[in-house]
Amino acid sequence: MASLQPVRGMHDLLPLEFQKHSLIIEAARQLAATYGFAEMATPLMEFKEVFKRTLGDVSDIVSKEMYEIADRGGEDIVLRPEGTAGVARAIISEGLTQSMPLKFFYAGPMFRYERPQKGRLRQLHQIGVELFGVVDPLGDVEVISLAFDTLKALGLTHRVTLEINTLGDDESRKQYRNQLVTYLKDHHHKLSSDSQARLDRNPLRILDTKDEGDKKILEGAPLLSESLNPASQEVFAKIQEGLTLLNIPFKVNPHLVRGLDYYCHIAFEVTTTDLGSQGTVLAGGRYDGLMATMGGPSIPGVGWAGGIDRLAMMLHEDQLPAPKSPLAIIPMEERFDFQGLELAQRLREQGFVVEMTYGGGLGKRLKKANKMKARYALILGEEEVASHKVTCKDLESGDQIQLAVDQLGAFLRDKKPEGGE
Ligand code: ATP
Ligand code: MG
Repeated sequence: MASLQPVRGMHDLLPLEFQKHSLIIEAARQLAATYGFAEMATPLMEFKEVFKRTLGDVSDIVSKEMYEIADRGGEDIVLRPEGTAGVARAIISEGLTQSMPLKFFYAGPMFRYERPQKGRLRQLHQIGVELFGVVDPLGDVEVISLAFDTLKALGLTHRVTLEINTLGDDESRKQYRNQLVTYLKDHHHKLSSDSQARLDRNPLRILDTKDEGDKKILEGAPLLSESLNPASQEVFAKIQEGLTLLNIPFKVNPHLVRGLDYYCHIAFEVTTTDLGSQGTVLAGGRYDGLMATMGGPSIPGVGWAGGIDRLAMMLHEDQLPAPKSPLAIIPMEERFDFQGLELAQRLREQGFVVEMTYGGGLGKRLKKANKMKARYALILGEEEVASHKVTCKDLESGDQIQLAVDQLGAFLRDKKPEGGE
């Protein structure tokens, strides 16, 4: 029945998948904290205007990927497709513009109406950072270094490539745009229809084309790097120097661009060949014009967003922490249930993982204890309860020993260090 399926492109995160997501978020969260980035969250919904202003009407996201919600009050609301615009909106609406710099980390779901395929979901999940209020290219280096550290913590650096490029400052970009448009107009009839449409509205985006014919034409196009004024060259050089100093390997890809006017200087992507055509796992850049585009003061910004779903596809199960083996509580009769419940609580307070076995006699419950991969079963019968003791059965060796409840914690910790704190 169709209605019992999840919505197309939206997936359940069952425990194994959820653990991978958690591992990624936790690695990024901890590292972000070491750089002084504070975690924040914006609502899952925003006014459509927030994204229209920042991403622009012609962006893929605004023109065709937005989830629009029919709000009962008639407001134009959308499910957020990305994180930066909401953070910028929050900085303005929360009145944070006086206290620069601002350093934020976030993690959460985003929604885009895309054609679902491997690595391309309609509910996707991102981690991301934003650094506002810093023009110094050292800020760019730190932001990229944080991305790299996160990939390192996940053991992925040898499977990915960091590509960087510069869009230069406004002057360099304007000059380049004119050169590019002049060149592409000569090849107008051979361009894909998408690129033809972009030629007037968003010519830099054409550099980012996936169309093979367009790519051929672009091979002969002038390069942005040749239009950079000295100031822009200096900025890019400092970033490269910083990355080299920190032993962060990178490749300069002169075709890497961001199509919107508020992007400048650094643009970067982390890609992998392990995931087929959905190979970009993280992307970022500098957006000095974004806050002004939103209607706020002119505050520079740089940041990135990483795709958790794609990163999770790169993780192996053996990278996940092994689950702690539980202690299984077995009351021999119903009248000892509450003693079992109390014992479980007491041991959990000491940091042990404890599970109750429900239903059946001793044999059945021992089977359940084995199934939950318990190392010890803690059995409570008449004799044990009367003498404040517990029978502790080693499920590997079959040995059993009676212990006073008070000594149980110490005994189990001693036997099995990973069982308790
Ligand atoms: P793409 O070119 O793959 O569409 P994008 O430019 O739209 O990517 P960004 O908006 O820069 O992507 O988002 C940052 C990261 O989020 C991407 O590099 C990718 O890892 C992830 N991502 C983006 N869209 C999706 C999606 N639909 N499903 C899963 N992950 C996604
Ligand atoms: Mg996209």
